[in-house]
Amino acid sequence: MDIPKGKKHFILFSWAVIVLPSLFITYHFFPPQIDNIYTVLSLFVFATLMATVPIVINGTPVFLIQWLSIVALVRYGLFLEIVLMQFAIIPLLLRIRVTKSEWYRFPLNSTMFFFVSLISGLVYIQVGGEFGEQPLNSVFIPILIYQVVSVLVNQCVLVLVYRFLNRDYKFISDDLQFDFISNMVMFPLSLALYYLSGGLGFLAIIFIGIPFITVSIILRRYNATEKINHYLQKAVEIGHQLTESLQVNEVLELFIKKITATLPVDYAYILDVQDDHLVLLRRVEKGMKQPNSIPPIQKGEGISGLVWRTGVSTLYRTKSEWVDIVQGYMPEDVESVICVPIVRSQKVRGILLLASTKKRAYEKYQLMIVDMLCSYFGVAIENARHYEKTKLNSELCGLTKLYNYRYFEEILFEEFNHLQVGKRQCLSLIMLDIDHFKSVNDTYGHQSGNEILTELAQRLKRIIGSRGTVARYGGEEFVILLPNIIRSDAMDVAEDIRIGIAEYPFILHSDLDLERRELMVTITASIGVASAPEDADDALALIRHADRALYTGAKQAGRNRVAQYVKS
Ligand code: GH3
Ligand code: MG
Ligand code: MG
Repeated sequence: MDIPKGKKHFILFSWAVIVLPSLFITYHFFPPQIDNIYTVLSLFVFATLMATVPIVINGTPVFLIQWLSIVALVRYGLFLEIVLMQFAIIPLLLRIRVTKSEWYRFPLNSTMFFFVSLISGLVYIQVGGEFGEQPLNSVFIPILIYQVVSVLVNQCVLVLVYRFLNRDYKFISDDLQFDFISNMVMFPLSLALYYLSGGLGFLAIIFIGIPFITVSIILRRYNATEKINHYLQKAVEIGHQLTESLQVNEVLELFIKKITATLPVDYAYILDVQDDHLVLLRRVEKGMKQPNSIPPIQKGEGISGLVWRTGVSTLYRTKSEWVDIVQGYMPEDVESVICVPIVRSQKVRGILLLASTKKRAYEKYQLMIVDMLCSYFGVAIENARHYEKTKLNSELCGLTKLYNYRYFEEILFEEFNHLQVGKRQCLSLIMLDIDHFKSVNDTYGHQSGNEILTELAQRLKRIIGSRGTVARYGGEEFVILLPNIIRSDAMDVAEDIRIGIAEYPFILHSDLDLERRELMVTITASIGVASAPEDADDALALIRHADRALYTGAKQAGRNRVAQYVKS
C-alpha cells in the first residue's frame, strides 16, 4: 500500500508533535518504579518474540502482547507500558517486511499504539486501578475494564487511520472478534502472570511466555492453511473465468487483473514464445499497463530465458538471489520474483514473471498457485487463439484472403444501422465485375484466372486502405463498403480502381503453357456505385442498386467504366 507523500509527512509531523512530547509528560507523571530489572528485561524480550510471530488478519498484523502489557501497566505504570508497546513496533514492522517507501508505518503505528496505551491506561486509573503490587480484588475490575477499553480504542483508532488512508475498514469485523476473544482468553493468564511475577520475577514471564509463543505459532500455522485454502478457491474461480473467455486480449487482461489482485504484485510480465524468442505480450507495472517496448529475449537469457529453457518455476526471495542472472530489463526496486513457464502439450509456450519490491514477498505455496493459474491460462489462451483463428477463417475467402460475402453482409448491416441512428452521415458501396473473365480463363487457364483474382484483391486493398472494407462478393465480383464517404467521392475512388486495373497489366504464369512463362495480361472491370441515404433505404437495396448501376450503367454501356445508380 502506497500513500501520497503529503500524507506521509503529515504522519511524521503528527508523531513528532504528539508522541514525542507526550512521552516526556507521561514519564513526568508516571515514572516507573523498577523493582527487578530482569523482570522488566524479560517483558521486552518476550514482546520482541511475540512481535516476530504476528498473525495477519485481513491484512492487519495482530500480535498477542496484552498479557505483557497488563503486567507492565499494573506493575510498573503507564509510562513503562507505553514504552513497551512502542518498542514492540520495531520487530513487528521489520518482521512484516515494510519497504523503504513504507517508512511512514513506523510513526503511524507508534502514534496509533500511543493513543491506545494512553487512553486505556487513563481509563484504568479513572476506574480505580493502581500501580505496583496490588491485591487481586482492587485491580480485577479495573484490569477487566482496561482490557475491554483497549480493544475498543484500538478498533476506533484503526477505523480512523484506515479512513485517513482512504481504505475501507469496518468497525465490527473479524479483527474485532479475534481481538476480543484473544483478550478475554488472556485475561486470567495476564492476572496470573501479574501475581507470579511478583514472587517469581522473570521466571514467571518465561513460564507463561513459552506457551504463549507456542499458541501464537500454532495460530499462524492455522492461519496459513486457511490462506492456502482461500488461494486455492480463488485460483479455481479464476481458472473458470479464464476458460470462459474466447478473446485472446480478454484472457490476457483478465489473467493479469486477477493475478495482481490475488498476490502482492508490483510488476507483471507475460511473455510469449515466438519462434526462437520470448516476446513481451503484456507489461503491467505498479498497476499501469505499459508499452511492450522490451526487446525479445533469447533462450537461457535472464530469468525468463532460463525458465523457458528448464521449464521449471522459480522463486527468488531477494535481489541478491537473481541479480547475477538478470541480463536485460528489470526495474531497479524489485526484490522478490516469481517466474513460471506457461506449458501446453509438454512445451513451454510462454512465461509469466511477477515481481515485488518487498523482500520475501512470496511463499512457496504461492508459487504453486501461480503455477496452477498458468496452466489454466495456457489452456484459455490456446482456446481463445483457436477460436479467433477459426472465426477469422470463416470470415475470409480462401483464395483472395479478402472478407467473404457473409462477413461483408454483417458489416453492411452494422454500418447501415449506424447510418440510421445518426452515427454516420452517409455510406457508399462500390461493386466491381471483371470484364470477359470467362475468356481470360479460357485463354490462360483457370489457375491463371485465380492469380488475377488474387492480385486484384491486393490492388483493391492497397487502394482502399483504411477507408473501407473490401470483400469478394462471389466469382469475379468484388464489393467495397465506404462509410462516411459521399457518392461523388466514392465515384472518384471507383475511377481510381478502374484505372488501377485497366492501365497496369497483371503478371501471370499460364498453366496452359508447359514452361509456365510469365505473361502480361491486361484486363478491365465494370464498376457500379450507390450511396445511402440518397440511393437506398435499406442495406440490401444498397447492394442491389450498386449491382444495377454496374450492369446497366457500366456493362451495357460498353464495359471498363464506372457508373452511378440512377433511379428508373
Ligand atoms: P462480363 O462480366 O464482362 O459480362 O463477362 P464474364 O465472362 O466476366 O461474365 P460471366 O459472369 O459469364 O463469367 C464469369 C466467369 O468468372 C465465369 C467463371 O469461369 C469465372 N470465375 C468465377 N469464379 C472464378 C474463380 O474463382 N476462379 C477463376 N479462375 N474463374 C472464376
Ligand atoms: Mg460476374
Ligand atoms: Mg464478369
